Amino acid sequence: MKKRVVILGAGESGVGAALLAKEKGFDVFVSDGGSIADSYIKELNDHQISFEQGGHDEELILNADEVVKSPGIPEKALIIKKIREKNISIISEIEFAYRYIGKSKIVAITGSNGKTTTTALTYHICKHAGQDCALVGNIGFSFARQVAQDPKSIYVAEISSFQLDDIVNFRPQVAVITNITEDHLDRYDYKIENYISSKFKITANQQEGDVFIYNLDDKTTNEYLNHYPIKSTKAPITMSKEIPQGAYLTNAKMYLKWKNEEMQMSVEDFAIKGKHNQYNSMAASMAATALDIRKEKIREALQTFESLQHRMEKVATIKGVEFINDSKATNVNSTWYALESMNKPVIMILGGVDKGNDYDLLKELVSEKVKAIICMGTDNAKIHEAFGEIVPLIVDTESAKEAVQSAFHYANKGEVVLLSPACASFDLFKNYEDRGNQFKEAVRDL
Ligand code: ADP
Repeated sequence: MKKRVVILGAGESGVGAALLAKEKGFDVFVSDGGSIADSYIKELNDHQISFEQGGHDEELILNADEVVKSPGIPEKALIIKKIREKNISIISEIEFAYRYIGKSKIVAITGSNGKTTTTALTYHICKHAGQDCALVGNIGFSFARQVAQDPKSIYVAEISSFQLDDIVNFRPQVAVITNITEDHLDRYDYKIENYISSKFKITANQQEGDVFIYNLDDKTTNEYLNHYPIKSTKAPITMSKEIPQGAYLTNAKMYLKWKNEEMQMSVEDFAIKGKHNQYNSMAASMAATALDIRKEKIREALQTFESLQHRMEKVATIKGVEFINDSKATNVNSTWYALESMNKPVIMILGGVDKGNDYDLLKELVSEKVKAIICMGTDNAKIHEAFGEIVPLIVDTESAKEAVQSAFHYANKGEVVLLSPACASFDLFKNYEDRGNQFKEAVRDL
């Protein structure tokens, strides 16, 4: 009899897993507690994959040989408890895809901030160097879909901690942890240790010849590094000292040292700007080096990378006022890096749904660089409270259009309007992309 694989959740990763399972000849069933997007329903139908939506039929699920769980489904969901009670194995989509990659390699990138940028940049370097590679995870296709439909020699994968929670053998040849700051603690019993452990799982199956890249300047990563038995070769990145192996940055120059290779590059030549992007550029260059990509190719690629939308994206300069869209900054840490990279007076657009922000972390930079704050949100009380005494002008607005017009009104030539909200977007917008797009539209309408 065919083995039965049940897939919980029918987003990009669930549907990708279903396509791969079908291709490998399993008896496949997809179950989504909510509603499934039309395009995915069509795909499931086209591939004769049975599915349900709007609930979980236990009879059709608890007879599974194995369950592939989408990252959005929390461990405490009732259906997961029932599956665990029956001792049915639960794995994540990346674990499932991993079984079918053959001799291909994986560069897996996780962390609290900078995942997408580092992943996209690493992919850009690989592509530029002529490698047969794919970008999978958050942007592009899910890992499982890529393996099912268009297998490659190298997968550059953005991996969330939720995906790592349910791995067994998943082994990337190159693993990256960009940094670790508190996030998603609701999914980890509010214990930072659990969240950290799940990030470090990216190294759990690595072997000696594999490479682990991490940020030596990140306090949490370093505090916990020795709690885990990491077998792979460590390649740290840092801005605080010279190191014999890894990447370091000093006097605006990046130095890369790996085995007998050495490379130098001025940060002026990096296409993406800001201190956070210097870290991301170091991590991506190190990952490419670990894949034996030539330094000339790395250098060229770092210069030609086009930054991603909604992440420190330059929108326009109008009457000498520059507009930057960093809508993806949904926590204080991201906004800190955005502000840190500013070297002109800033009119800052801040606000939205606050996930427990500690604005104290921003105070020093705000008092140094910000001349006005435009709040964009339904409840701005905490922002007024935090910055009322250090910023002379704080204005409330309730739409992107209003916020942009107001910011432009107060801005002078040579200043910058920065949307880097430090908050989630769903009080006024569908998601951060919608917020960023409305911001850009409002700028273009000025
Ligand atoms: P992720 O995919 O982890 O959410 P992104 O690459 O999409 O990260 O970047 C999200 C935001 O986080 C950016 O807009 C930027 O403000 C901030 N950021 C990017 N890289 C870093 C980094 N290395 N350290 C801290 N903040 C960062």
